Amino acid sequence: MRQQILAPKNRKPIARTTYGGPQYVAVKGNVQRIELHRGCPWAKIHDYCYEPFEHEDFPIPQLVKNQVQILDMNFLARKDALDILKELGSKRVNGRVIKYELVCGIHFDLLTQETANILKKSRFVRPRIAWDGPLDDQKKIKTAIKILTKAGYKRNEIMLFMIVNWRIPYTECLRKLDLMKVWNVKVCDCCYDGGYKHAVPEYWTQKEMDDIRLKSRKHNQLVLFRIDPQPSINQYRGMKGLTFSMRK
Ligand code: SF4
Repeated sequence: MRQQILAPKNRKPIARTTYGGPQYVAVKGNVQRIELHRGCPWAKIHDYCYEPFEHEDFPIPQLVKNQVQILDMNFLARKDALDILKELGSKRVNGRVIKYELVCGIHFDLLTQETANILKKSRFVRPRIAWDGPLDDQKKIKTAIKILTKAGYKRNEIMLFMIVNWRIPYTECLRKLDLMKVWNVKVCDCCYDGGYKHAVPEYWTQKEMDDIRLKSRKHNQLVLFRIDPQPSINQYRGMKGLTFSMRK
């Protein structure tokens, strides 16, 4: 059975974007947020994403905090990405090293062992890999996790993005969560469109969206604590009377 869209898709992005504006650089508390690249080669294929297809690079701005979040949707699409990663690793603020985070994650097709080693050496923390596609990508995702662990990352600090309320059905996302448990990695469930706060049922029902949120939160607790730290919250409580949408 194919997923059916439940709401018409004729609106502009809900999430605010910086596209068309100047390079984003801001400080929020102890964290500096910066933009180094816009544009993605998959922008014409992934129609749930508002990233532009045209590429634009920005220089490394003056760094003023020891925690820096890079907001780029696909930083590794930048042609000189490895040089920039090395340069970032050499920077200091007040004589102390800087920890970086690629908050929008890495596309598994662009992750090589060399890149992962440089990320680790340059003190990039909490690596995220995008697994927005189907279960069929499982071997590629498993390989990407292996690359990151070989570079020195622990499994429970690795996160996999998983888009929900999109064409990948609810039950297929549950099967992806099963694998993430086997791999002992965390999930970043991203709800189309604009996050759980703004999303309306598009390809999934509201009940499915609520249920995957609950199960994803519980999944991360299990991975982090290796026991269920909140047994009073039953992640299967919403299963009664749930109607599943199935791909196969
Ligand atoms: S979701 Fe990621 S890979 Fe896909 S178009 Fe957006 S930035 Fe590119």
